[in-house]
Amino acid sequence: MNDYDLLVVGSANADLVIGVERRPAPGETVLGSDLAVHPGGKGANQAVAAARLGARTALLARVGDDAHGRLLLDSQRAAGVDTGAVRVGGAPTGVALITVDPSGDNSIVVSPGANARLTPDDIRDAAGLFARARVVSAQLEIPLETVTEAVRARAAGSRFVLNPSPPRPLPAEVLTACDPLVLNEHEARFVLGGDGLDGKDPEGRARALLALGARSVVVTLGAEGALVAEGGGTAVRVPSPRVGAVDTTGAGDAFTAALAWRLGRGEDLVTAAAFAVRVGAAAVTKEGAQASFPTAGEVAAL
Ligand code: ATP
Repeated sequence: MNDYDLLVVGSANADLVIGVERRPAPGETVLGSDLAVHPGGKGANQAVAAARLGARTALLARVGDDAHGRLLLDSQRAAGVDTGAVRVGGAPTGVALITVDPSGDNSIVVSPGANARLTPDDIRDAAGLFARARVVSAQLEIPLETVTEAVRARAAGSRFVLNPSPPRPLPAEVLTACDPLVLNEHEARFVLGGDGLDGKDPEGRARALLALGARSVVVTLGAEGALVAEGGGTAVRVPSPRVGAVDTTGAGDAFTAALAWRLGRGEDLVTAAAFAVRVGAAAVTKEGAQASFPTAGEVAAL
């Protein structure tokens, strides 16, 4: 029985944001705005995005036994995510220290903290959860061996969706499970290594990723929408609605969560991507990451 439309295995970070007139040079101290603390991390973002759309969602992550961990758990629960499997303790909650200048350029330092301590054993301990999930979604802000164990832990017939961010080359066992691999062009270049750098267009990169073993590939193209490629068929471009973009933070996480949920409901990849581009577009019309994720009603109204 599938109790969950989506099980997200991934990171949870507190984003600590300070606005500055100018980002500091080495050895320099600058004064900035009041500190803003937001729940973030790709795993936590995806789970909130899916739950807000109405998906029955569970999160498997690790946070510290600290105030940032409680902030993250609260934001998950407020969105309706099942946090029963979130591990607590072992290290401080992951943190992203972000300085943003008036032009919107930022400098970021990430301390993975508890995210780096989400282990293959944590996956094996959650076997019951995997057995009840239609789709398992992961990203790469947790150890690669933990992602690999999540691939192994999936129930027969459940689908695996991976956003390889931050990007790195993937072992065949992970790549061949991806259905789809969801990534932007920058990430596609990294996953392809040298092959990604030789002047290929998005279609060429998607085909190269299929040739490497991915079962299907979705390349996100920002305001241009997404490109869907699977099997021997031709790649299909799925345009995004035109919107007034305010803040693109988290758009990729909202897109991936929406896609994974709709695939679990049995939609084909192009139909699911056509919904996901609308969710991504809605997310860029508001400030912030989790704060910008739309409800199903807001997507319909777009
Ligand atoms: P991020 O790292 O900022 O979360 P990303 O690089 O992973 O994003 P994008 O390709 O920028 O992913 O965006 C994901 C989806 O969000 C796109 O496929 C598109 O549907 C939507 N989107 C992003 N930017 C815009 C925009 N300016 N206008 C309309 N839709 C957008």
